[in-house]
Amino acid sequence: MLSFMFNSEVGDDVYEEDPTCKELQEKAAQLAGKEAALFVPSGTMGNLIAIMAHCDRRGSEIIVGDCSHIMLWEQGGAPSLYAFSQIGGVLMRQVRNNKDGTFNLDDMEAKFSQGDDVHCNPTSLVCVENTHNYCGGTVLPMHWLGELKARCQKHNIPVHMDGARVFNAAIYLGLPLVEVLACVDTVMFCLSKGLGAPVGSMLVGPEKFIQK
Ligand SMILES: *Cc1c(COP(=O)(O)O)cnc(C)c1O
Repeated sequence: MLSFMFNSEVGDDVYEEDPTCKELQEKAAQLAGKEAALFVPSGTMGNLIAIMAHCDRRGSEIIVGDCSHIMLWEQGGAPSLYAFSQIGGVLMRQVRNNKDGTFNLDDMEAKFSQGDDVHCNPTSLVCVENTHNYCGGTVLPMHWLGELKARCQKHNIPVHMDGARVFNAAIYLGLPLVEVLACVDTVMFCLSKGLGAPVGSMLVGPEKFIQK
């Protein structure tokens, strides 16, 4: 790994002149079956950027599992509410996680709000986690992801996956990553977890989203 790092061609990524970073982003997008990708220093940063890019209206609401990493560990418990509500201007609505990392889809749908009532915040995003850290590294069933996507699509609500260890899920399911991610619009995965890199995560999704 060290010799690869020493021998990599580098440049100023601010001007998109770092060929190695570009190659990494292209490879991530291709592996995930999405249009584009962005290298970020940490998974927490990737999730925060994703949520803020999906929720470009202040006071937007997102739906998250109550045991999700986004809820519990992205600066630890209550401070994560600060990060998302004070930095992002986003309200987190929780649904109870089942033991396998899923949640009840009727509960999720019951919490959707279209924002046509002035008392409510519009639901702008649903977040899932795969594999699910706090639920013991469980893998989300593909049929559940399919049903979740169908219900979100009905309401025009995008789905983001906190896929810190999603490569583990792909191996467990025996499926190519593209298929595991077919039901989500955007994904963050960590290079620093199961993939063994010292640091870094990738945020992946549509071209316009990554541009934003
Ligand atoms: C580790 C982890 C993150 C955050 O990644 P960092 O690089 O530590 O910020 C996000 N989600 C899950 C499920 C994780 O396990």
